[in-house]
Amino acid sequence: MTDHVPERLRCDLRELAETQERPGADAAPAFRRMAEDGVTGWAIPPQFGGAGLSSAEIMAGYEALAAENLCATFVLTQFNAAVGRLVPSENEALKAELLPKLAAAEQFVTVGISHLTTSRRHLGEPAVKATAEGDGYRLSGTLPWCTGAGMADRILAGAELPDGRQFLAFIKTDAPGVTVADPPELLALTASATTSLTLDDVQIGSGAVVSGPVAEVMKQGSGGTGSVGTSALAVGHAAGSLRGLAGEAEKRPELRETLDPLEREREKLSADIQRIAAATSTDELPEGLNAQSVRTRANSLCLRSAQAYLTASKGAGFVAGHPAGRFVREAMFFQVWSCPAPVAAAALREFACGL
Ligand SMILES: Cc1cc2nc3c(=O)[nH]c(=O)nc-3n(C[C@H](O)[C@H](O)[C@H](O)COP(=O)(O)OP(=O)(O)OC[C@H]3O[C@@H](n4cnc5c(N)ncnc54)[C@H](O)[C@@H]3O)c2cc1C
Repeated sequence: MTDHVPERLRCDLRELAETQERPGADAAPAFRRMAEDGVTGWAIPPQFGGAGLSSAEIMAGYEALAAENLCATFVLTQFNAAVGRLVPSENEALKAELLPKLAAAEQFVTVGISHLTTSRRHLGEPAVKATAEGDGYRLSGTLPWCTGAGMADRILAGAELPDGRQFLAFIKTDAPGVTVADPPELLALTASATTSLTLDDVQIGSGAVVSGPVAEVMKQGSGGTGSVGTSALAVGHAAGSLRGLAGEAEKRPELRETLDPLEREREKLSADIQRIAAATSTDELPEGLNAQSVRTRANSLCLRSAQAYLTASKGAGFVAGHPAGRFVREAMFFQVWSCPAPVAAAALREFACGL
């Protein structure tokens, strides 16, 4: 199932995960290494030069990559989020222009869309406002989150018109009026170069529009069973933590009491992700198995696996540079990244449970 993630790539990504922790480093070398093995073409149909892998194959690939280098895999998901919106788009000219370049890793794209779903929603005002002008639009506002913005050629941005309709359009990062902020230091994944962008009267033609204008553009084309991509990363990351725990268990067999049930839980989740990714409708899935319930379980497993790895590594794991510390910091990411409100609520309930 994961022939598309060769062993050599896994080893290289594991090594790069350590060097990415150095101040000022970014995930670009790891991303380029993945591109050498065709990873940027996974989600792009063969007629545009990609591999056209199935959703189940991509999820298995995400798990394998995230176990080695969560940061680079996360950057890949943001690239694929833009690709995933472009592939079903009716904008054939833009597809023909961009998809072959993306498959060949000649251009890098990312997304700034969370303000339409999970970020700044309580402010009651669109983060990016659009006004129609001639054949296109003018955009002003802020994209609060954008991973790899500094290395991106274009960003798929969400914007809202005065009548409430929304659209997604590619903005060139060197277009007049676009300012990419310096990336802040993060609790983890600083090398993802995640930052915000300011748009000051940025002009785009209708040829840059990927979907919309329409009410709730993020719900367009999101039928089926829901995305399990974020969960695949969390479960893959748990596999990385459990690999570290297994290393400790070689010298201390009593740790198997912790390792074995966590490993079984990981295998079950991995199988559930495959079932959801392969299903064409929710009717094919058992009751209670859906993207949200899997994400809740994946977040929990990811946190507990990293904590188990650190606990088994003892004080040595608490010293900066030990991988257990990095895994614990990275595991926290899933509590905030693209985390639906019910998943966050389930986590808060879990935290409130005493022994
Ligand atoms: C490392 C990282 C990378 C990311 N990369 C991308 C990316 O590439 N593209 C993308 O589109 N998105 C990205 N995201 C965004 C992500 O998917 C979520 O949208 C984001 O984490 C939501 O957090 P927020 O602080 O923006 O939420 P907000 O809801 O805006 O919360 C911000 C603050 O507002 C306050 N607040 C929240 N809710 C309320 C309320 N109801 N009432 C009063 N106050 C409130 C709280 O103090 C909170 O700290 C990324 C996030 C992270 C952390």
